[in-house]
Amino acid sequence: MCIFCKIVNKEIPSKIVLEDDDFIAFHDINPTRKVHVLVIPKVHFDSFQFVDPSIMLNMTKFIQKIAIELNIDKGGYRMITNIGEDGGQEVSHLHFHLIGGEKVGRLVRERE
Ligand code: 5GP
Ligand code: ZN
Repeated sequence: MCIFCKIVNKEIPSKIVLEDDDFIAFHDINPTRKVHVLVIPKVHFDSFQFVDPSIMLNMTKFIQKIAIELNIDKGGYRMITNIGEDGGQEVSHLHFHLIGGEKVGRLVRERE
């Protein structure tokens, strides 16, 4: 079972922000900014590339709610999902990073 499925099953502890029947948001164990939260569906999909698109409707609503809960909705934040090897994905369970709580700056092109 993957590490995030274990978090869903509470086999691994995590600092949960909010959870409902289908999704869970928890603080990243290694935060890169003041706010760094991961949002996942409870059902396992390897990445965004393999997600059932119908899930994204409620996941979008859940993410918007989490941003309000974290008080980053007005100031803004960055949302990232890494996909596969070239995308730098380390945990193969679809997750969205919500990063903010401070200015995270422009995401500039790495090659310019
Ligand atoms: P990825 O590179 O796959 O997009 O990001 C995986 C993220 O999961 C990383 O930011 C990493 O710090 C976080 N992470 C890995 N293992 C755990 C864990 O056991 N608990 C929590 N809360 N976060 C984790
Ligand atoms: Zn999983």
